[in-house]
Amino acid sequence: MSKLSIRDLPLSDHHIFMRVDFNVPLDDGRVIDDTRIRETLPSIEYALRHGARLILASHLGRPKGKPNPKMSLKPVAERLRMLLDRELAPGENVGFCPDCVGLEAEEMAGKLEKGQTLLLENLRFHAEEEANDQKFSEQLAKLTDYYVNDAFGAAHRAHASTVGITKFVQKAAAGLLMEKELEYLGKALQHPERPFVAILGGAKVGDKIGVIQNLMKKVDTLIIGGGMAYTFLKAQGQQVGKSLVEEDKVDLARELLNESKNQKLKLLLPLDHIVADKVDANARVQTVNSGQPIPPDVMALDIGPKTVEAFSEEISRARTIVWNGPMGVFEVAPFAKGTFKIARAVAENAGATSIVGGGDSVSAVHAAGVADKITHISTGGGASLEFLEGKKLPGVEALTDKR
Ligand code: AMP
Repeated sequence: MSKLSIRDLPLSDHHIFMRVDFNVPLDDGRVIDDTRIRETLPSIEYALRHGARLILASHLGRPKGKPNPKMSLKPVAERLRMLLDRELAPGENVGFCPDCVGLEAEEMAGKLEKGQTLLLENLRFHAEEEANDQKFSEQLAKLTDYYVNDAFGAAHRAHASTVGITKFVQKAAAGLLMEKELEYLGKALQHPERPFVAILGGAKVGDKIGVIQNLMKKVDTLIIGGGMAYTFLKAQGQQVGKSLVEEDKVDLARELLNESKNQKLKLLLPLDHIVADKVDANARVQTVNSGQPIPPDVMALDIGPKTVEAFSEEISRARTIVWNGPMGVFEVAPFAKGTFKIARAVAENAGATSIVGGGDSVSAVHAAGVADKITHISTGGGASLEFLEGKKLPGVEALTDKR
């Protein structure tokens, strides 16, 4: 990686401001899923083991620039105390500051001792955070000597805590989670082992056009499933009934199909379909076999068994797999099979580097019970999509270059 890593910083005795992604779901003031906290533990424990005076900062939810007790990070401090290696950081060594800037924050940060941690209150309680305000960035920077960004999930945003602050610190480096994300995603795009198969799904073609266009230049096979496939099938002149179609994207889908032919890229679309008249667990579900038109009064809500077979065979031959987006409405039981079977097909290919990104596909590999067989599960939905689009992430660009 061309950017500094936390391992390149002199941590001992120094104040380290670490931007983390503690945007966890809360229910009545309790953390109900601490995955994001646990993902950052390696960087936190690394810094503490090396004697840092650690300041942690994150956003949580969308408080719209105003303090909102429902989006306080206080419960996260409690969970962090429970999760941190007790020898490294006994509970009393994790403090909480009720604001992320200002006198109290400066005082509390100033009093930190080696190996102690201070979690700051939600950055987005200040509108200046998302505005990437210079004064606010300077106030954040005042708390520290060095900066570490371990919040890959926020790296596609140019905010004060991801970009602005980097101009006012001595050095800005990537945390261990950030490094891992960039390494896996970067290698897949730059030096993938081939065959390289990308699987895209989800509802909207519109959201993923950039990803499709960029991946078309890189992959050997592009598999398109989920709701977005039906705009492509319509572009091929197929009857798709009431399935999700973005009419204003049909021409573009046709162009992309032609482009894939010119590039001799293998592009797979659903062959058969699980259809129903409505998205409902009790709907009357039917299979439309390959070659048959989808009747006008139903919509395709999952890929059919022939499609699962064809997609799985292609996946089994891959050496690099990138997956983003479900193959059907997997939240509703009768339409979940296709997505879960694809999750298993990806997991069963033990010889491949598999990368799964996007909230829904990540939930699907967990629900299918195969998460531990995936090489890398990306923690940043939006950030990983932008990376796959070939865009530069502002939070990464802002880090100090290695010399
Ligand atoms: P996205 O956010 O674009 O990745 O889309 C995810 C959503 O796509 C999920 O909530 C799925 O329920 C939905 N989805 C997947 N396949 C279909 C389909 N065939 N028809 C309608 N929605 C779908």
